[in-house]
Amino acid sequence: MPQTDGLSDEILIDVDGLVKTYGSFTAVNGVRFQVRKGEVFGLLGPNGAGKTTTIEMMEGLRKPDGGTASIAGYDTIRDLRKVKEVIGVQLQSTSLFDLLKVREIVEMYASFYPKSVPVGPLLADMTLEEKAGDRVKHLSGGQKQRLAIAIALVNDPQVLFLDEPTTGLDPQARRTLWDIILRLKEKGKTIVLSTHYMDEAHVLCDRICLIDKGQVVALDTPANLVRSLQSENAIEFRLPQADLASPRERTELTDTLRKVQGVKQVELARDTLVLYTDHLQQSLTGLIREAELRGWKLTDLLTRTATLEDVFIHMTGRSLREE
Ligand code: ATP
Repeated sequence: MPQTDGLSDEILIDVDGLVKTYGSFTAVNGVRFQVRKGEVFGLLGPNGAGKTTTIEMMEGLRKPDGGTASIAGYDTIRDLRKVKEVIGVQLQSTSLFDLLKVREIVEMYASFYPKSVPVGPLLADMTLEEKAGDRVKHLSGGQKQRLAIAIALVNDPQVLFLDEPTTGLDPQARRTLWDIILRLKEKGKTIVLSTHYMDEAHVLCDRICLIDKGQVVALDTPANLVRSLQSENAIEFRLPQADLASPRERTELTDTLRKVQGVKQVELARDTLVLYTDHLQQSLTGLIREAELRGWKLTDLLTRTATLEDVFIHMTGRSLREE
């Protein structure tokens, strides 16, 4: 089928029913998706969702207990050598050699491949040219991450894997990295990115695979995912006096809230209630009237535009930020 979003319709990654178990625990449970050439594909989910395990099976670093993954037509088990030629993997910055200089370490990795890109322009692309002569141990967190990406790019891979590249970085360093990722996309790289930051996924990804407890819970463009909520606004609040652990009380409460004017959907994420509406003012007035009538004390009340976070709450009943 011809694509209308400017991306190629060539499938570069095919993940088909991947499963990974650790003892009796299933960390990845039948994950299936395809990634097109030139796409930035996001795996978004909370800690422990199975993102790293999925990525490492795609990279051929972990052996699946079920299913297959192929990159550019090469199976990640059978054709691992070929897979390694077409992928770039961002190392954890902790595994970089502290005492080497930036240029030396990139040159060392470049020497491992029969064909590599020139190191100078690569460092410039990663805004590291001024750091070329510095030792790794003197780099900031963001600079180390950019160095790890430079190393992943030395063999000019078709597919770049970035596993939570901005975790632990300050906002400025995150933005710099986002710019770099968007520039790599412009150059035609296919990028698989895992993150638990929904703003990051929204800004960077053509499509997002929402993953929870080892399973795909939704997969679409960020805009379509948010649109699937069918409501533009969210009203959030807590009711500390309500016993939300009681199923009866929970049902009564959500039934009542669903009847508030304009409310289309009601979700409960841990102890926070979320009402979705296209008529914010009407629903807010209705909620406050209901609260007065029933003697509820609303706390932490806020209104906002619906986001990917809400899609996650809708699909799982939990928040992305929950541990
Ligand atoms: P995070 O954001 O915390 O990195 P993630 O989505 O990448 O999370 P994974 O690292 O893939 O999640 O882990 C998925 C689950 O599998 C977790 O519950 C984790 O504890 C478990 N797990 C991962 N590796 C192993 C292992 N080697 N042995 C046992 N359990 C493991």
